[in-house]
Amino acid sequence: MKVQGILTNLETKHPGEKEYLQAVHEVLESIETIYNENPQYEAAKIIERLVEPDRILTFRVSWMDDAGNVHVNLGYRVQFNNAIGPYKGGIRLHPSVNLSILKFLGFEQIFKNALTTLPMGGGKGGSDFNPKGKSDAEIMRFCQAFMLELWRIIGPSADVPAGDIGTGGREIGFLYGMYKKLQHENSGVLTGKGLNWGGSLIRPEATGFGATYFTKEMLKLDGDTFKDKVVCLSGFGNVTWGVALKVIELGGKVITISGPDGYVLDEKGLDAEKINYLLALRASNNDIVSPYVEVFPEAKFIPGKKPWEVPCDIAMPSAIQNELDGIDAENLIKNGVKYVVEVSNMGCTPEAIYAFHNGKIPFAPGKAANAGGVAVSGLEMSQNAMKLNWTKEEVDAKLHQIMSSIHEACLKYGTEDDGYINYVKGANIAGFIKVADAMLDQGVI
Ligand code: GLU
Repeated sequence: MKVQGILTNLETKHPGEKEYLQAVHEVLESIETIYNENPQYEAAKIIERLVEPDRILTFRVSWMDDAGNVHVNLGYRVQFNNAIGPYKGGIRLHPSVNLSILKFLGFEQIFKNALTTLPMGGGKGGSDFNPKGKSDAEIMRFCQAFMLELWRIIGPSADVPAGDIGTGGREIGFLYGMYKKLQHENSGVLTGKGLNWGGSLIRPEATGFGATYFTKEMLKLDGDTFKDKVVCLSGFGNVTWGVALKVIELGGKVITISGPDGYVLDEKGLDAEKINYLLALRASNNDIVSPYVEVFPEAKFIPGKKPWEVPCDIAMPSAIQNELDGIDAENLIKNGVKYVVEVSNMGCTPEAIYAFHNGKIPFAPGKAANAGGVAVSGLEMSQNAMKLNWTKEEVDAKLHQIMSSIHEACLKYGTEDDGYINYVKGANIAGFIKVADAMLDQGVI
């Protein structure tokens, strides 16, 4: 395979889709050797088939606000690959959403879902609708209008959407209510559902808990633990909350959180009360993190900046793609960072990843470290299919085991000659082999 040739071809076909091209580039670069050693992949044009989604549904979403004004948003579902299971992936509601972003997320999701060991393919959906500042009734009308189109192509064995940025329990509820009405069945098509209507325990915490379990495995390799480690997080939503909760439980100290307005530095570290406040903050329907320092005045708010200038042992970007760039990476390295764990999807730019690899800093990519969220979604699907619920302990134990197995897979395929673990390579190769072999078994379709 000529990676560059395939990429050039993609750039011509999909000009300007920069996030999608970035995600494809990262994967192709890491799997090139394995691909060349296995001519059966080339013969079946696995790469060329894998980089194009099976199909994309684009639709108009019209809804009315509380004042009676009509709004029009764009809705999408990218069904990327279902070689190992139904399309599976979240719905992102954020003004930045476009096809490039959803294609990058759907592409990443294929490998992430393969890594979980559960039978899930890759997909992603969303809209440029901004849920911030909207009333519950407006959110409901938007979600209902969105599902009026989406319901035709999803189903518990076909495509199982879930939450992502901007889509939490409230949105899943409104989407599910409309699906159920249109399809005339209660089959659990979405994951991230409420506990008393088919949801799974631990699902809200799962992405953050999973990422922390993954980091625990990275530390264990060096004979170390979270005890007294200083951790910088970004974001203040669901994912950041889950990471903070688990890091503190394991003895670490979380000193930063952030929003689009800047970051909060809390040298004393987050505690149970502050973590509970995070719940209130993310439910407050605004986009800013600065109110934190009004409630906890010992903390400082640094406007317009990212937390990566703060010295820490472990950095865990947990907000959005490309939130940590080459300069941030150099700052972190200069300040002695020991581990970097991407909890957001593609949270680090290629320049940042290059700097971490170059500096031999263990760096875990999102598709490995944040797979706990979709893994527990997979467990929610299992529970729905069995019509049984597992206890919190059962789900947590399975999540823990899945994260350890992802870490194992990264070691297997990512350990370099000098002993450095290239987690990016490990995760990409492990995910790719599973999907590529399934595609080979199923013929040219
Ligand atoms: N949006 C999450 C992710 O990026 C979860 C997806 C899901 O549960 O289907 O993996």
